[in-house]
Amino acid sequence: MAGPEIKAPAYREFPTVPALQPDSMVGMNPYVANEKMNEAIGFPGKLVDNWEQVAIAKMGELLTKYRSLKVYLDSCVHCGSCTDKCHYFIGTGDPKNMPVARQDLMRNVYRRYFTPAGKMFPKLVGAQDMTKDVLDDWFRYYNQCSECRRCSVFCPYGIDTAEITMAAKEIMHAVGHGHKYVNEIIGKVHKIGNNLGLPGPALEDTLNGLEEDVKEDTGIDVKYPLDVQGAEVLLVTPSADFFAEPHIESLIGYGKVFHAAGISWTLSSKASEAGNFGMFIGSYDQLKKIAMRVREAALELGVKRIVVGECGHAWRVAYSFWNTLTGIGAGANDPFAIELQKQLDPNYKQPAHICEVTWDLIQAGRLKFDKEANDHRIITFHDSCNVARGSRMGDYAGGQFDIPRNIIKSVANKYHEMGVGTTHEKTFCCGGGGGLLTDELIDLRVKGALPRMEALKQVVDQHGVNFMATICAICKAQFTKVLPYYGFKMGLVGGVHQLVSSAIQLGNEQ
Ligand code: SF4
Ligand code: SF4
Repeated sequence: MAGPEIKAPAYREFPTVPALQPDSMVGMNPYVANEKMNEAIGFPGKLVDNWEQVAIAKMGELLTKYRSLKVYLDSCVHCGSCTDKCHYFIGTGDPKNMPVARQDLMRNVYRRYFTPAGKMFPKLVGAQDMTKDVLDDWFRYYNQCSECRRCSVFCPYGIDTAEITMAAKEIMHAVGHGHKYVNEIIGKVHKIGNNLGLPGPALEDTLNGLEEDVKEDTGIDVKYPLDVQGAEVLLVTPSADFFAEPHIESLIGYGKVFHAAGISWTLSSKASEAGNFGMFIGSYDQLKKIAMRVREAALELGVKRIVVGECGHAWRVAYSFWNTLTGIGAGANDPFAIELQKQLDPNYKQPAHICEVTWDLIQAGRLKFDKEANDHRIITFHDSCNVARGSRMGDYAGGQFDIPRNIIKSVANKYHEMGVGTTHEKTFCCGGGGGLLTDELIDLRVKGALPRMEALKQVVDQHGVNFMATICAICKAQFTKVLPYYGFKMGLVGGVHQLVSSAIQLGNEQ
């Protein structure tokens, strides 16, 4: 049955603040997880009887645990700097999608139960009881936040709405009001090993097929190994890389890079997913449980290096959290973490991003390219939020912006940057991050993509750009879906290692 027609908002002549459209996204609700999905990952199956008390108790726990949350809830002065910085507000005009209004959904409840003024004079300070209507608004509007952190770049106090969103989701999960899409995916990771539910034999089949395809294209025996004991590198990549377009083109590229550099590597059927949706629902326990698979696989396979493929939030989790969650990097000190530290090669950054690996090899002169092979492409680069604002690459601030661009410029001749204020730390979210990449939210996803599409259109019109490179599996999936709504072909998006794959010269290895 056809649903209501989804239309992209009109391109704006100038990036003006949108006209307010109160409640325009009030009907935009993700599906609620069922009992089985919630219970499978350790949450109450459905809304618990005394959920109001449980929610407030959980909020109290988080306020103690995360000092930053209390600071964020206390320190907003409603200056308005963040109001027009969210892509979902720009695309929808719904005032509850202003970052400050999104924060206030929790702040008002916080005031009611955790501040003297809110306890005594709730109406005077805008304090709000925790009611079912409030819970519904939380579920609706915290699930219209992709946790992209763009608004925090513009806040003079550095208030991070994404952290408030994650806390709200943590509270909602604690009372049994989980998000179907995210919880179903986390369940698949634990049961089968990856977000897409691809079992080991299917992975092996895909990788064998890739080897045949690459041999046919290049005449070279490039290997795409699985579960190889004693390989130097364990590559952990988003499962979309195994079969989705354009993701698979980057997987082909990673294999060619390792082949050309003579580095032995392997994928793992146990850790066949770099993505970690535990972050999207603010669940430390799930973050840890999902991340632990990587450590187990690394120990079992005896690898010396761990490398992460093109996935934005996975790199943020790996870069910012793996050390304390799992002992990959420095930090944890349980016996397995110590064993892993001894096993990994201290001459390499652990973990490393595939772009860092490729860029190091380029700088060392160990990869050769035919840049003309990409001459049919006029390229721009979309910075993915979690890489741009939640991680780093290389050994200096801003390496996460330079390294992917350096690679592109090493493998292709034609490159144009999108407009200032839409890239680097001010990049716009693709519109599908934070666990929102689900069909029932397609209207939101299309509207939220507006500012990125506007910036893209400028370089398309001015320079004939026909390829937007990115290093995130969610960005690739989201853009593939929404580009046609804005009059672009879905093939306009692709990976950085897709470009590497086209230009790399094989067959001269020593
Ligand atoms: S989606 Fe991004 S910009 Fe919008 S409120 Fe959430 S973190 Fe801020
Ligand atoms: S920019 Fe910061 S202080 Fe100003 S309204 Fe937004 S969150 Fe509050």
